[in-house]
Amino acid sequence: MLKALLTHPRLKMISSPLGLGKNLIQYRFLQPLIQRPLLPRAICLYVTYRCNMRCRMCGIWKQQGKSLSNELTLPELDRILSDRLFTKLETININGGEPNLREDLIEIVDLLISKLRRIKRITLNSNGVPPHRTIENAARISDRCRRQGILFSISVSLHDIGPRYDTISGIKGTYEKVIQALKGMQKIRQHNPFYLSVNCVISNLNLHHLEEMIEWDQKNQIPVNFTLGEIRDRFHNIEMAEGIEINEKDRPYLVEFLRKLANKRKVYFQHALRYVELADMMEFSKRRKLACHYAMGGVILGSEGLLYYCKSSRSIGNCRERSAYDCYFDPNNLEYRQSLIEGKCGACPPNTFNQMEVGRDLFRLFRFLLKGNG
Ligand code: SF4
Repeated sequence: MLKALLTHPRLKMISSPLGLGKNLIQYRFLQPLIQRPLLPRAICLYVTYRCNMRCRMCGIWKQQGKSLSNELTLPELDRILSDRLFTKLETININGGEPNLREDLIEIVDLLISKLRRIKRITLNSNGVPPHRTIENAARISDRCRRQGILFSISVSLHDIGPRYDTISGIKGTYEKVIQALKGMQKIRQHNPFYLSVNCVISNLNLHHLEEMIEWDQKNQIPVNFTLGEIRDRFHNIEMAEGIEINEKDRPYLVEFLRKLANKRKVYFQHALRYVELADMMEFSKRRKLACHYAMGGVILGSEGLLYYCKSSRSIGNCRERSAYDCYFDPNNLEYRQSLIEGKCGACPPNTFNQMEVGRDLFRLFRFLLKGNG
């Protein structure tokens, strides 16, 4: 079972039994004894809020007018990442907006690799457009990561098939371009292996086409991860709620779909457990039990320098003006963090199940994979 756990194609970003064991001890047994949060080991870095899509469930692009002039420059990032808050970072998620719109994305990656000495994995979220730049950057970043022994993965957004995806993305021709990007990246993986997957955000806009996404996954041999659309201030999508939030009458359909995925434990592996949790939360209003890497030791840095504890958090300070460590460990902010964990985590959909999270929930994952009992 352990061998299967470490070699399963959907678990390529999970590094080693040692790493999982370390996470298990640190977060399952030691952290509950410590009053203060540990230094973050994972960061989500929004390198830009600019985006070339107009997705009907995301309004991050609405900030792009002020985003370009307000984006952290390379020297600013260099200075901010020198802060002691970031000394234990191992996992970097480069996010946006569309990260490939940053002309200096490769320089940012070089900075991360040279600056963060413990770095073990880099993940990049992209919409895949424009394809040529997506493919070129994937080649350059994967080459750097391979040479440095860093695990690299790209998750490309794809929320429906064919022209229907153009309707969701708000831009004609998007689907064809995304497919072009995915095919190009599949080719470069032959020289520089990296993990390539698709992220499908479930919303009212695509609910009844999800089965087709499963067929697409099987046909194209690119794993599709399903995540639940979220409405948050920071995503500037509150007025888009109608397209995102699953209608009451459609909830049983979604629950059934998630349970169907959860039953395919050999295919979806750790994500099958995540799908059970999502189904239980929707069907029985159960509170979330799965780990969250933000609550364990994660942080978000916005493209304008604002720091957040997690995707549900308010800003806890501006790293342009104050040390990131001081923002993170400010007593008032820590009090707010505690109220966030006690108040919001229980209803927060688990949309990731990464190395840190798998480590903390290792026993539960084993139990689930062996007996189907989550
Ligand atoms: S609110 Fe959600 S993202 Fe934030 S720490 Fe809790 S579970 Fe994690």
